Amino acid sequence: MVSRVIPVDTFDLVIFGGTGDLARRKILPGLFRRYSAGQMPEAAQVIGAARSEMSVNEYRAMVREALMEFSDKAEQGEEVIAGFLQHIDYQQVDAQGDDGWEALREKLRDGIVRAFYFSVAPFLFGDIAERLKTRGLADADSRIVVEKPFGRDLQTARALNATLATYFEEGQIYRIDHYLGKETVQNLMAVRFGNILFEPLWNAQFIDHVQITVAETVGVGGRGSYYDKSGAMRDMVQNHLMQLLCLIAMEPPARFEPDAVRDEKLKVIRALEPVLANEVVRGQYEAANGEDGYLDHAGDPRSITESFIALKVRIANWRWQSTPFYLRTGKRLRARMSEIVVRFREPPHSIFGEEAGGRANEMTIRLQPDEGMDLRVTIKEPGPGGMRLVDVPLDMTFADALGPDAEEVPDAYERLIMDVIRGNQTLFMRGDEVEAAWAWTDPIIAGWEEGKTKPAKYDSGSSGPEAALELLHRDGRRWREIRA
Ligand code: NAP
Repeated sequence: MVSRVIPVDTFDLVIFGGTGDLARRKILPGLFRRYSAGQMPEAAQVIGAARSEMSVNEYRAMVREALMEFSDKAEQGEEVIAGFLQHIDYQQVDAQGDDGWEALREKLRDGIVRAFYFSVAPFLFGDIAERLKTRGLADADSRIVVEKPFGRDLQTARALNATLATYFEEGQIYRIDHYLGKETVQNLMAVRFGNILFEPLWNAQFIDHVQITVAETVGVGGRGSYYDKSGAMRDMVQNHLMQLLCLIAMEPPARFEPDAVRDEKLKVIRALEPVLANEVVRGQYEAANGEDGYLDHAGDPRSITESFIALKVRIANWRWQSTPFYLRTGKRLRARMSEIVVRFREPPHSIFGEEAGGRANEMTIRLQPDEGMDLRVTIKEPGPGGMRLVDVPLDMTFADALGPDAEEVPDAYERLIMDVIRGNQTLFMRGDEVEAAWAWTDPIIAGWEEGKTKPAKYDSGSSGPEAALELLHRDGRRWREIRA
């Protein structure tokens, strides 16, 4: 744990990879949102660091351009942007060399929070960690933020954990999964543990199954050869979908505190059963509907990497025995949609008879678009004509329920960066969690890598391979339709 309590009324944040895609699209716009809301301390300093030779003014011009392109707050006007840019500095630094480190050290101030964001390729994480420590840039209170991917299997994740542990305590390491920074994901915990209504029903006796879908419309495009070494299982399931599954499935932690929450998530991952070969469907999109195909970009015309995966996951514990979790994620699908559906069981007996209609309750947690939740409940269809049942949503869309301020919910990166500054690790993955997730994932991947199993083809713009629908049909269930 971070040992001393130090004031958080200001901070130094260094973004390694400050000229890169992630910094321009997410990290800097996230910080700008914070600034626009009047919540960035006056003396806060954000230092971009990369190899490119650039003056501070050139870097500020690059940041301005990034805000114009990627920030929803850019319309705040020139004065606000100019004010934000006053917080921005730049230092040329080579992660693998000697240049720039001393100059960077001189820019850092004593007695305030220092955070170092590793927004660079993972092979540089160890080099940066080592230099931060050995050259005196990081002290016992400093934090490092590590981007995904955290390893590509258990062995590499262990090695990376060991490298980081050489220089930093676990309480200083913030492994980021931006899904955990989403408002809805935290609301899921508030709804589960802040109400008496749900928790008594939150088990295999009352929940039939859970679906977690993360559907993207984008393809791999220019990142094709990078993605081809990864695939949907490593890129999405091992981290993002696994984290969502944990939050749905975990036992109530005693407190909303970092280790209490992470202990419960870890127990879920360790209780996952191995996945059977016939309960995994892999897919690869091909050209259709005017869109390109995966192999146009993969760099290997015979690539068998999956751009889609669906699986049936079982959790071997008392709470979830007999309630499957179906996970699915893919690229170039019909719509961009991330949601969790919790499907309750039917009432044990219908007093209205089959013909009255009605159906099982369903809770949907939408991560995008339009973050929010709804709960479908059965009511009587209004009017004469006897007792006919319909199901209607109890809509909990934040923007509607909480008024205009709800639109100002912080963006995931904004929230997570501020949690780093505050020293709150609750929404970050602990090293043992990441390793446990890989320990579950590795044998599944080995199953198809050893057999060189080809993924099923699916049309760009479709809902994925037919076999993914079949995965639920044979259990007498169906996926929620992928729609915008
Ligand atoms: P990127 O666009 O390729 O940017 C890489 C950054 O690293 C650049 O600023 C580059 O600047 C800097 N860099 C490269 N070598 C360096 C060195 N030796 N010393 C110092 N700086 C160096 O990559 P990215 O897409 O931003 O991704 C960054 C990290 O975030 C990766 O780990 C990636 O997996 C992860 N991530 C990215 C996204 C995304 O949407 N982009 C999403 C999730 C996670 P110079 O060339 O000037 O040095």
